[in-house]
Amino acid sequence: GAKVSHPVIAIDGPAGAGKSTVARELARRLGFFLLDTGAIYRTLALLAEQKGVSWADGSRLSTLAETLPIRFGRGVEDGAVFLGEQVVTTAIRTPEVSLGASQVSAHPEVRAMLLGLQRQLARTGPCVVEGRDIGTVVLPDAPLKIFLTASPEVRAQRRQKELEARGVK
Ligand code: C5P
Repeated sequence: GAKVSHPVIAIDGPAGAGKSTVARELARRLGFFLLDTGAIYRTLALLAEQKGVSWADGSRLSTLAETLPIRFGRGVEDGAVFLGEQVVTTAIRTPEVSLGASQVSAHPEVRAMLLGLQRQLARTGPCVVEGRDIGTVVLPDAPLKIFLTASPEVRAQRRQKELEARGVK
């Protein structure tokens, strides 16, 4: 694991448990930055699409992941996600890119390649880090680890609301 010298809160748990909501609010209240690791997989899926790399091609995807030029906005740019010079904050939230992120994240070589990037980002300052495998694989030595879950009914309701808010029936 990666030893860190500042506060890191790792939030793990299944889809629809409320990880992002809790992470965002915690980060806001504590003045920590929010490391949304799902945005990394989403940005990789978008880059692959732009470069004509298949979401099924784990080997080429891991090459793209190796130098993924992602940057998270801070301060006035809080919440913004950049892919090189492009602002991709909303482009990575489409249902299509969601599907791509899920496919891209299924390749073990892609997950392995993105470990270093996630650890490096978590080292840049006090942060709340949210996503799958965070407390177990990415930052096993985080001083505070939360595994957030909820009943299947509540998780399904939350996911449905999220999709409806994006215009998906
Ligand atoms: O959390 P979010 O929906 O933005 O994540 C997008 C996709 O990225 C998820 O469906 C999941 O497949 C993948 N992911 C992951 N590990 C993480 C964060 C996200 O595999 N730490």
